[in-house]
Amino acid sequence: TGIYHALHKLGDNHAIPTRLDLDTATFVLSQFPQGELAESRVAFVDSATEQHITYAQLHRSINSLASGLYHGVGIRKGDVVFVLSQNSILYSTICLGVLSIGAILTTANPLNTKKEISKQVRDSGAKLAISAPEELHKLAPTGVPTILTSRPSEGDMLSVEELIECCSIHSLELPQVPAAQSDTAAILYSSGTTGTSKGVILTHSNFISTMTLLKWSVDASSAQDDIFLCFIPIFHIYGLAFFGLGLLTMGITTVLMQKFDFQGMLEAIQEYKVSNIPAVPPVILGLVKYTSKVRCDLSSLRRVSTGAAPLCKEVSDDFRQRFPWIELRQGYGLTESCGAATFLVSHKEAKVRPSSCGLLLPSFCAKVVDNETGKSLPPRKEGELWLKGPTIMKGYLGNSEATAATVDSEGWLRTGDLCYFDEDGFVYIVDRIKELIKHNGYQVAPAELEAILLSHPSILDAAVIPVEDDETGQIPMAYVVRAAGSDLNEDQVIQFVANQVAPYKKVRRVGFIRAIPRSAAGKILRKDLVAQSKQQLISK
Ligand code: AMP
Repeated sequence: TGIYHALHKLGDNHAIPTRLDLDTATFVLSQFPQGELAESRVAFVDSATEQHITYAQLHRSINSLASGLYHGVGIRKGDVVFVLSQNSILYSTICLGVLSIGAILTTANPLNTKKEISKQVRDSGAKLAISAPEELHKLAPTGVPTILTSRPSEGDMLSVEELIECCSIHSLELPQVPAAQSDTAAILYSSGTTGTSKGVILTHSNFISTMTLLKWSVDASSAQDDIFLCFIPIFHIYGLAFFGLGLLTMGITTVLMQKFDFQGMLEAIQEYKVSNIPAVPPVILGLVKYTSKVRCDLSSLRRVSTGAAPLCKEVSDDFRQRFPWIELRQGYGLTESCGAATFLVSHKEAKVRPSSCGLLLPSFCAKVVDNETGKSLPPRKEGELWLKGPTIMKGYLGNSEATAATVDSEGWLRTGDLCYFDEDGFVYIVDRIKELIKHNGYQVAPAELEAILLSHPSILDAAVIPVEDDETGQIPMAYVVRAAGSDLNEDQVIQFVANQVAPYKKVRRVGFIRAIPRSAAGKILRKDLVAQSKQQLISK
């Protein structure tokens, strides 16, 4: 039939819940450790401040925040709440507090600029923002009512901390909000296969399925005693599915870093005897390259997983050689698939297939489609990966055209990634055919940078492409057509864009060109530019 099916099935004790009136928060909270264990088991510890929160405290905080948001702030089912913060031990409380009352979560990278944030607030129709104090200035122009995550050092703005405190003292009744798995739980932003960022609508059913699959792939019974380290941003689906929600259903302890820093990571591993790290390829590269130069004890590490961007085979081999006691496993997924769709579950398989992203997770199926003929391809043939499964998004917010171009009427998601399967069902991602650039695992949409470049009075035309980079995966490179008589130089172009975007989106290389190659229909021929950039690099 040309369809690849998942080889593993979820056993009865792992089955995805079918109860239609279930929501994400109820699902997560019902699986928290109970009784004395809940009082003693730490859910999160902040690696910088050593502040920690137990499962029992977390549960109470979530209920108090939910009551406060409902009774005190007036948030209702279907209202969108915009969260702007780095990782913090309050992040899960906020997510689950919001979800508990049927409100919808939208999260953003705190590195984003005022303009980028305003756009998302507007597009998502946010009713309330919850912001870290240091990011507050970015929300000011939106006029959206805002509360802070933590108590401000000055001023009298309401904070999540106070709301929790106040509601736990007055023990307000927890609102009972009717829920359906088909309701929207979150709107996360992704540029998809083309254009600028769009709101990915993810339902409670998507999250409940993702968490069930995560539990299956993490092997919950043996993971109970694991200590996880989190530096993956929780605003991204990878961090949200794992640390914001998923691991909590397994009663796991997570050491939380507000953001990634290499030395901090090494210290945290040593201090907390971290055993399990979900990571991204630049971190794996860092471990291979730099740990010999610093003294640190990594003997507690048992398992490191990687995803969000390709891991090159050499790095994967070097890692296994340098750290033979650590299992390195790769997974693959998208915001549009609410997290992982494939994972290399078995260590043995990971060793013999170092560049595979593993098998389809249970309940997924896939097609490898030749985009010229539309035919499904057999093993070992490369084509676009199409996915179907319980975690595939509902669509893009307010953008039926992009939705229709991405998810077909049978529910197949076009991933925009080029892949092949081997005869045993293992997936290999070989290239990205969509426009998306990934820098350190973060999304950079060429269309957004092109629009900025075109607003420069001395730029007639522009196109942005990825250039491979060992350390960060890819960097955005701009090809620019200068207006007649202009002497615009590389630094000026780089600066012009840098002033308007988050640091990770910066154009880092510029090529000047007579004309941008375009198809008859006016589409930028990115492949030609990528080939040209490679040629230039070789001749340098
Ligand atoms: P995001 O929506 O930000 O999670 O980005 C999803 C995209 O990241 C995918 O469509 C892939 O292009 C890329 N990606 C994620 N995981 C992997 C992986 N293991 N190998 C290669 N690319 C990946």
